Amino acid sequence: MSTNLHRPSSDPDQQILYGLVGSPGIVIGQVVVISRHPEQTQRHTLPNDQVAAELLRFQEAVARVENELIALRSQFSTDLAEALSILDSHLLMVRDTVILDGTLTLIKQKRINAEWALSRILAEIRDKFEHIRDPYIKDRFSDIQYVVSRIFNQLSGRQEDLLGALDEPVIVVSDDFSPEDTIRMPAKNILGFLTEKGGITSHTSIVARSLDLPAVVGLEKVTSRCVTGDTVILDGFSGRVYLSPTLDQQTQYLEYKRQHRVFSDELAGYIHRTSETVDGLQVRLSANIEVLEELKTVQKYGAEGIGLFRSEFDFFQYKDPPDEQQLYKHYSEVLVRLAPAPVTIRTLDVGGDKFASRLTGSDLHFECERNPALGLRSIRFSLKKPDLLKMQLRAMLRASVHGRLRILLPMISSFDELRKVRKMLSNIMEDLDAAGIAFEQNVEVGIMIEVPSAVVMADTLAAEADFFSIGTNDLIQYSLAIDRANEYVAHMYEPLHPAVLRLIKQTVDAGHNQGIEVAICGEMAGDVVTAPVLLGLGVDELSMRPSAIPHVKRLLRHSCSRQLQEIGRQVLKCADGVDVRNLLTRYLPTYYPEEFGNQCRNVTS
Ligand code: PEP
Ligand code: MG
Repeated sequence: MSTNLHRPSSDPDQQILYGLVGSPGIVIGQVVVISRHPEQTQRHTLPNDQVAAELLRFQEAVARVENELIALRSQFSTDLAEALSILDSHLLMVRDTVILDGTLTLIKQKRINAEWALSRILAEIRDKFEHIRDPYIKDRFSDIQYVVSRIFNQLSGRQEDLLGALDEPVIVVSDDFSPEDTIRMPAKNILGFLTEKGGITSHTSIVARSLDLPAVVGLEKVTSRCVTGDTVILDGFSGRVYLSPTLDQQTQYLEYKRQHRVFSDELAGYIHRTSETVDGLQVRLSANIEVLEELKTVQKYGAEGIGLFRSEFDFFQYKDPPDEQQLYKHYSEVLVRLAPAPVTIRTLDVGGDKFASRLTGSDLHFECERNPALGLRSIRFSLKKPDLLKMQLRAMLRASVHGRLRILLPMISSFDELRKVRKMLSNIMEDLDAAGIAFEQNVEVGIMIEVPSAVVMADTLAAEADFFSIGTNDLIQYSLAIDRANEYVAHMYEPLHPAVLRLIKQTVDAGHNQGIEVAICGEMAGDVVTAPVLLGLGVDELSMRPSAIPHVKRLLRHSCSRQLQEIGRQVLKCADGVDVRNLLTRYLPTYYPEEFGNQCRNVTS
């Protein structure tokens, strides 16, 4: 977003709800509230002779839900792989023994009605999920709740026709939505989504982003705070929702929205232009992705390749971990779609806080660690599970014939780790050769520079690595000793700390001295304030969320290498992050008057 855009101010008396940004955008409209609270049900004790009929009633309801889901599945086109896989997981849930047998046993043992038994089982499952810290897994409870709510509807004979019946454009409000909901909703009549549940990885957010509809999720009690027919402002940039806004606020927001449209249209003009400075210095602007569904946006925003494919999502978005053949298919698809542009696939980066709870109880499980951020994370984890790493590398190598693959190893902290993976790769290559399976012999193998030891040893590592990619999210965490997920020290997490900038510079120099490219794939790469600094430090590639590419490209195309180098030189002399920001407050408006105007709000905020 342009640094000159003006966001409307909020009135303290106004009823405002604060949630999480599920999908960006602004919309003003009337809401339709769809509330599902399956657990609000009554307990009835059954006479002995009615228990068998109750068991049958429950089994029949489940069978009807299963048939509904199968019918819905057949309506999805096969290119909606994400939605299909979610539906498959719902089908598995409706057949799940914890839910089915658990409910049947309760009906039998306690002689209670099916609704009450089912609500008890749901409450037990919820208790278990409450102890889960991983937000991705926590979000999956909403799937279980959704499937259970369908069984409730069948038991009570209620039909969910509200969503399908939307006949004018509205903002839909609910506890949460599933992919099935979204297929039933007439997309042309949906302005946006508001949900109580969910986070940025919840299905509502994923689906809303892929439909390009604004969404705010995680809004406490939103289903009871508004009533169908109320007007709201949904600000999908800040995560704010204004209930019954004044006309003045609506006018301000309409103006804000208009400015955004103008700005996005202007940025769209950069999508097909080359990524270079006015004096011809080329810098590759590539995309970070987590799931295959994002490939559409990668192409839409003109990415010149994938700088980071976080492969761990592939392992954890389905019930069972994928096998080599599934990985091969996914990797091949990305490579084919992007060819001949480079695709950088990172090996599994789990442990620490990432997908930690997903590992619990699984084949991938390790004991709880006292200090997980400094524990068995990333490449350390993979090297402890050589079969898993081998499978992933084999899948990558087999896919390498379909495009330009670059393999990326996360969180390398010693030369030995790189050497071990290299050795494993050459063994796999020998096996593939022996089996007559084609692969790219000269596939590039790069490492992520995320810990200070890798920076210190960058010259040595550069001799064995084909490229460096600096993961600034972690490099900041490990160099400043600031847990990136800890809100108590969040104010100290300073990407522009000169220590971080010097580490980046040292890495760039070490890489260039050995003739290898150095990329940045942390959040800093997609921020228009930090990007000029990174460019000034000499990086060759910036990899970011796809929608940020046009904005960074506009900045790059207004840059001149002499000025960037000047910024790079000056920031290295600063004593702390505040000095760097003050310096940028002087430089950026001078070098980029259009972007930063007379004030440099993004820099100082
Ligand atoms: C990083 O650490 O900067 C990075 C890109 O990796 P992740 O955010 O996945 O840890
Ligand atoms: Mg990282």
